[in-house]
Amino acid sequence: MKERIIAIANQKGGVGKTTTVVNIAAGLAEQGKKVLCIDLDPQGNLSDYLGYDFSLPRPTVVDVFKGNAALSDSIVTCEAEHIDYIAADITLATADMFLAQTMCREQVLKRALDADKTADRYDYILIDCLPSLGVLVTNALSAADGVIIPVQVQKFALNGIVQFEDIFNLVKENINPALNIVGILETMTDGTNMAREVDKALKERYDGLVFNTSISKRIEAANSTAEQKSLITKRSSVVGDQYRQLVAELLSKEEN
Ligand code: ATP
Ligand code: MG
Repeated sequence: MKERIIAIANQKGGVGKTTTVVNIAAGLAEQGKKVLCIDLDPQGNLSDYLGYDFSLPRPTVVDVFKGNAALSDSIVTCEAEHIDYIAADITLATADMFLAQTMCREQVLKRALDADKTADRYDYILIDCLPSLGVLVTNALSAADGVIIPVQVQKFALNGIVQFEDIFNLVKENINPALNIVGILETMTDGTNMAREVDKALKERYDGLVFNTSISKRIEAANSTAEQKSLITKRSSVVGDQYRQLVAELLSKEEN
């Protein structure tokens, strides 16, 4: 994939965004790539997943948005996964308020990335978005080269992407013309008729954009969140192997 800064986004909640960020990051790290993840969700799920100690007084992405810390000062390392990341916490929930007076408030993250050349030190930067179409997501889309849209293959899945497409197009037309859809990732597939129907509808509408790799619904994935461990680093994990395959698919796009 030629895109280096990738937002993982879908305003629908619980579709596997955070799980996808952690496992793509761990899979890229396994391939020797240097990866930075940015948690852009006040729920802080990504930070949790990567074992962040919320009790320590360290700058988070909130301080970056408020202009109180440089991006590079907010980076912490998850040694177990060989991933660097910038944490978020619940105070990010007030972003609408603290960004209200900021000029070009959709581009705060982009400006922060440009300001200290942080991006140059990484092969990939993955941004974990919150389930919303608000100002934090437009910041992610303004800073990114590409977006991966995880879609849980269930009823109404398509309605969600259509709404997401509107925001994507607004950002592309007005702020970030270089923005691409890297791909649509089918998650939590379970072999039901509904899953097959959604798969067919997605491929009809987004021909060529749906990844060949899809992610199965499996209890090990749900457990990995609680265990704070990627499925990539877990031995003989089916979902880990699927994410590994997805990373191979992404890297092969880069070569083409
Ligand atoms: P949110 O919109 O709240 O940020 P999300 O889109 O980031 O959610 P995740 O947090 O990655 O979604 O996943 C939602 C829940 O589903 C979590 O409990 C996670 O452990 C579980 N989950 C993720 N992927 C799978 C899978 N392939 N199979 C089964 N459960 C999964
Ligand atoms: Mg999430």
